[in-house]
Amino acid sequence: MTPTSKVPFLDLVTPHQELEAELLAVAKKAFSNAGFIGGPMVEDFEREFAAFCDSKYCVGVNSGTDALRFAFMAAGVGEGDIIVTVPHTFIATTEAISQAGAQIAFVDIDESTYTMDPEKLREYLETNCDFDDKTKKLTERKSGLRVAAVVPVHLYGQTTDMDPIMDLAAKYNLVVIEDACQAHGAEYFSKKENRWKKAGSIGLAAAFSFYPGKNLGACGEAGATTTNDEALAKRMKMIRDHGQAKKYYHDIEGYNGRLDSIQAGWLSVKLRHLAKWNQSRREHAHRYHELFADVKGALTIPVEAAWTKGVYHLYVVRVADREALQAHLAEAGIGTGIHYPIPLHLQKAYQHLNYKKGDFPITEKVALEIVSLPMFPQLKPEQLALVSSSVKEFATSKVGAAR
Ligand SMILES: *Cc1c(COP(=O)(O)O)cnc(C)c1O
Repeated sequence: MTPTSKVPFLDLVTPHQELEAELLAVAKKAFSNAGFIGGPMVEDFEREFAAFCDSKYCVGVNSGTDALRFAFMAAGVGEGDIIVTVPHTFIATTEAISQAGAQIAFVDIDESTYTMDPEKLREYLETNCDFDDKTKKLTERKSGLRVAAVVPVHLYGQTTDMDPIMDLAAKYNLVVIEDACQAHGAEYFSKKENRWKKAGSIGLAAAFSFYPGKNLGACGEAGATTTNDEALAKRMKMIRDHGQAKKYYHDIEGYNGRLDSIQAGWLSVKLRHLAKWNQSRREHAHRYHELFADVKGALTIPVEAAWTKGVYHLYVVRVADREALQAHLAEAGIGTGIHYPIPLHLQKAYQHLNYKKGDFPITEKVALEIVSLPMFPQLKPEQLALVSSSVKEFATSKVGAAR
């Protein structure tokens, strides 16, 4: 074994080898009737995933990015509207906003959960915008555009603190679309409703990605939108299929954004294992937490807020010298990642938004310090032990302890 493969950052081979017979049976079934687009495999998966998310409807599409973009369109948000999100996320979140024709506005994250800080959202809505009580329209003063929607991103598999965001949305007539692309099965405790709610069942709609490395991954590209709103689900179905509710009767111009039947069939097979896989991720995370308890001065470990049951899509720690930790782990044959190194407001693609360094200090600070450690359901106890002993070795070294 080469030193770089002792603990991969992510093992996608093992689960597919374990499920190979079942996955091949799905492909054979599709070959037997050539039903590659739509049909019962897609409908079955949509029903199963809606149930998994405690949502009434699920509409399968070709990616998480389109799940978001189509959800904005189906919710009537687009040209001339502002959609507010966080700069600490994957660029797909903001691509979907721009590609739906809307403008991006950012608010900063909370330093302990890495998700949207509801107070920062309040500050933006209340100091930068005016609300017209008669028209129920919130307008950003600077641009004169309507603020129409908010996209909390349940990053790393932890839910955003949704109660205060839903309250603000109700007060200012905003649509909430959850980016749940990293949070399949994560839960949020709503104090308002005094119950646990599944990620994807809280806002008007939510987007999920089934990119292979996600907690529920296809063997290719796939995504879905969940919602409790029947009309929105219907519009989503038209948008993904060239704007037609009936073949060749196009009420609007739509897209080619459908979920393939073979991918849907594969997702159904894997969905049966998702709860168990998420539980394994939680157990690995809690083991990491325990093992890192005595190096907390040098290492910031993930905080699971009282209102979230995380599904640990990623296990992200923070250190002062992130590159040194990555090099130390690479030396020991351990893979790592950075999610994400450059905040979106500082990306070249968003120069035109005229944000500058210092605008979102928490995001900027966090982006310099984060490292994602190996985290996947099949992570073996000895692999986890090697990762944690190597991280601790670094944290107690001269470079690692300096903070
Ligand atoms: C993966 C991801 C997406 C996009 O999903 P794709 O299926 O790759 O289009 C969007 N937002 C977040 C936070 C993601 O992690």
